[in-house]
Amino acid sequence: MSEDTIFGKIIRGELPATVVYEDDVCMAFRDLYPAAPMHILLIPRKPIPRLCDATAEDQALLGHLMLTASKIAEQEGLGDKYRLVVNNGEGAGQTVFHLHLHIIGGRPLSWPPG
Ligand code: IMP
Repeated sequence: MSEDTIFGKIIRGELPATVVYEDDVCMAFRDLYPAAPMHILLIPRKPIPRLCDATAEDQALLGHLMLTASKIAEQEGLGDKYRLVVNNGEGAGQTVFHLHLHIIGGRPLSWPPG
């Protein structure tokens, strides 16, 4: 049950977080173990475990997350130099099973990622 992840607890206010943005659909907060000078996690309030669990019903929600990520990057002064990452599944490095976008920036970003 992804309601029971740490992100579910953050949404419900049961765990503290440094929130940088929220609306009816999603919220964003600073990553506790940042991989870059700027590392924000953007999550939907709806508990979708992985991107591959999203359905056509979630199309508007997923679009909203992308546009909101862009808005947050601007708000945080990242300009056009940032990366969005979704780790889908354990094999890809997902550790918290509540869908989230990593917004990463503030340093040069190499490619391909590890
Ligand atoms: P994943 O590996 O793609 O699932 O990303 C999970 C992210 O959550 C990692 O970047 C962690 O550093 C981050 N994280 C874990 N626990 C917390 C927390 O309590 N608050 C904020 N971020 C967290």
